[in-house]
Amino acid sequence: MIKRILVFAKRFLMPHIGWLIASLLTGLLTAAASGLGVPLLIKFVFPLVFYSGVGEKPLLMEYVPSLESMDPGTLLMLACFSMPALFAVRGFAMWANHVVVNVLGLRIIESLRRTVFCQIQQLPISYLEGQRKGDLVSRIVADTGNVQNILSHVANDLVKQPITCLCAFSAFFYLLFFTGSGKMAFVLLFIALAAWPIITFGKKISDRAKRAQAELGELNTVVQQNLETQREVRAYALEERQIADFDSSSAEYKRNLMKLVKYQRLLIPIMEIVTAVALSFLLVYGKQSGMGLEDFMALAAAMFFTFDSMKRAGQAYNRINEAQGSLIRLEEVLNEPNSISDPAEPKTLPARVKGDICFDNVSFSYVAGHPVLRDINVRIPAGQVVGLVGPSGAGKTTFANLIPRFYEVTEGAVTVDGYDVREVTMHDLREQMALVGQQALLFSGSIKENIALGRPSATEEQILAAASSARVTSFLQSQPQGIDTELGQGGSGLSGGQRQRVAIARAFVKDAPILILDEATASLDAESEKDIQQELDTLAQGRTTLIVAHRFSTLRHAHRILVFDHGRIVGDGPHEELYKTCPLYKELFDRQGAV
Ligand code: ADP
Repeated sequence: MIKRILVFAKRFLMPHIGWLIASLLTGLLTAAASGLGVPLLIKFVFPLVFYSGVGEKPLLMEYVPSLESMDPGTLLMLACFSMPALFAVRGFAMWANHVVVNVLGLRIIESLRRTVFCQIQQLPISYLEGQRKGDLVSRIVADTGNVQNILSHVANDLVKQPITCLCAFSAFFYLLFFTGSGKMAFVLLFIALAAWPIITFGKKISDRAKRAQAELGELNTVVQQNLETQREVRAYALEERQIADFDSSSAEYKRNLMKLVKYQRLLIPIMEIVTAVALSFLLVYGKQSGMGLEDFMALAAAMFFTFDSMKRAGQAYNRINEAQGSLIRLEEVLNEPNSISDPAEPKTLPARVKGDICFDNVSFSYVAGHPVLRDINVRIPAGQVVGLVGPSGAGKTTFANLIPRFYEVTEGAVTVDGYDVREVTMHDLREQMALVGQQALLFSGSIKENIALGRPSATEEQILAAASSARVTSFLQSQPQGIDTELGQGGSGLSGGQRQRVAIARAFVKDAPILILDEATASLDAESEKDIQQELDTLAQGRTTLIVAHRFSTLRHAHRILVFDHGRIVGDGPHEELYKTCPLYKELFDRQGAV
């Protein structure tokens, strides 16, 4: 725990060192006003109020002789107003501490949340594919929110209470030994006793909190999947099953939270009992040893503040343990090694590559020992349009995904214009490519904004030209605000064909030398497919184009076709040649029976 907090502090606390110092100073002032101020006020200042000039002189008068010559009325006023003055200092210091500590907490959480989000942008696609999206969302939003919520409640106490405890304990120690009540030192044992439940519950709370947050992630996953698959849920009447899944996740989350709640508040009664017993002992021994009322009151106040601040610090510690559950989950994402990263000294690609692609002895496995591509040696010269065909699962998409370095080759090398894709930055590499997938993924925003994503610097004319080339313009009249029509999440509001046209317009505006079409028309009906095919053919002109195809009709303009089978290329050539020489190709082609 300490190591985790130190690592966390170095990474997220040090950039806000000014706020940290301010929170420590205001915390110190608050703590000194409570822990030292109140007991010492009782011990030194109150006796001045009751001193009538006869009998034993108050201690403070001995330390500050000028007080004796002061007018009794003024002395009384001074003594009486020291109390509100002390509480005014304490009150404003507490307020300032609250503000400063919360600003610090909010700043830390903002950078924590941002760091996790940035990390997700960097992590390999293979890692993200292995994660449940709902759980990742839960980590970024709910776990950081949980840490923030806890920090804002306890951050004050984290700084203030340990210092108050130390101050009150010093006052207690001073009063005990320097005022002659040293033999009552045994009450210190109670302090050790009080520390025990704080430590024991801390670990339990951290474990329960982590489990509860994991269950919340599970619950998020169920909801997210349900929302994403509403059509299927209704078409297959899966509502009851989905509700049962939801109930089970929700109940599990509740069960873990209930366990957590049990431990969270258990500390309070235990600490209060320990405090009451310690005070009773103090009372009995104080009475037996003939202690005066003011000494007893001062000792009792110091003891009360010691235990009270210990209790509050303990509660804060428990809540921190609760936050630790979330921190561990965030750390799991932050510490995930990034197996695909930019080289330390990247080579610079030309502003526009020619588009010459080469696979040199490439093998690739998603799971070690199960190669999906084996010994691939192929060169695709710049400007060539190449179709990738083969049975489902043969490795076509994987082959195409190695070019933008979505995955890292297990053996061999992929080069673009002679540059190994690992030698240049991923940003520069991907600048040279446009991708149109099976499902056109659009973002919320206008149609125009969605097209402009292809090249943020594109001018209005370039966007309109791209829209026209992709024939987006043909359906703009039916949109309420034409090209400025706002789309819902995922491009809802447009048909599949219209969405695909927007995605193609995005590729047009990007105007990249390499184009990857991964079953770009597979989800469309025959009519839309025919229409869109024309736009794709125009888009492919003059670019190195890879077309992952399951319909041969999409390969009319391909110069060359690569036939994949079980991760190997078993045919390579133009259609007429393959039809004669490659039995698998002939079989696949005849099965579809059309060009
Ligand atoms: P194709 O595009 O020819 O249908 P893919 O390249 O998508 O084939 O898949 C090739 C093989 O790799 C298949 O056996 C598939 O199950 C496996 N595969 C694809 N994607 C992943 C992944 N993200 N993780 C693990 N295995 C995968």
